[in-house]
Amino acid sequence: MAILQVKHLTKIYEGSIKQKALDDINFSINQGEFVGIMGPSGSGKTTLLNMIATIDQPTSGEIMINQKDPHQLNRKETALFRRAELGFVFQHFNLLDTLTVEENIVLPLTLDGMNVKEMERRLVLAAKKLGIETILKKRTYEISGGQMQRTAIARAIIHQPSLILADEPTGNLDSKASRDVMLILEKINRDEQATILMVTHDPVAASFCHRVIFIKDGRLYNEIYCGEQRQAFFQKIIDMLSLLGGDSHDLSTIRL
Ligand code: ADP
Ligand code: MG
Repeated sequence: MAILQVKHLTKIYEGSIKQKALDDINFSINQGEFVGIMGPSGSGKTTLLNMIATIDQPTSGEIMINQKDPHQLNRKETALFRRAELGFVFQHFNLLDTLTVEENIVLPLTLDGMNVKEMERRLVLAAKKLGIETILKKRTYEISGGQMQRTAIARAIIHQPSLILADEPTGNLDSKASRDVMLILEKINRDEQATILMVTHDPVAASFCHRVIFIKDGRLYNEIYCGEQRQAFFQKIIDMLSLLGGDSHDLSTIRL
């Protein structure tokens, strides 16, 4: 079953100079898939994620998430839709530093007014999955980057969303912490059939996906599937990136 369907998606940024950031993009993602999006800087990755995340409106085309079109909803319904159906993992973690780790994790449930017993039950489960049981009472400035991202992933999965959207989840982590985060995403995907869409410029991170979609100048360029071997997939990703050209190192890492 398709969890995400993107049909003829086009985005034009109006302004003094019109910019066509996405041009007739079509793809779909099935329940339980783990899909990567790669492309040179400026190719439209963030724009695509923002459309799917309902943060911004398409110029034309359609996005269906779990058989619903979030762009047909009013503002309040969109906020509810986003909280129910989507989980977000960001490059900069986006945790609230006035809250403890556990308060950050249950925040989406608090907003939904869930009863405390059920929140506790889910917190214990999520903390165990992410291996962060011992830091639940800490504040975010007392933990490492890897622990922050694991906290953010716990928060993203606690309400069992239909789709997890990750934008450069390893962009701020060293290689050891990156690997740990990717192993966790892989495990969540495998054990719980969580559907994940991840934008990344890191070929190692992308090699954990089942499929990588490449975009260039706002158009679908190619997609490749992981076969039996991750190492071979990694090499295919590297080859595709060099074919794509451009700056595969995303400038968003230095954007303030
Ligand atoms: P990527 O994330 O792949 O680097 P983006 O989606 O950020 O690419 O950008 C795609 C294109 O759209 C770029 O040419 C960029 O300059 C342009 N763009 C992005 N956001 C805006 C905006 N808010 N207004 C105008 N142009 C934009
Ligand atoms: Mg970007």
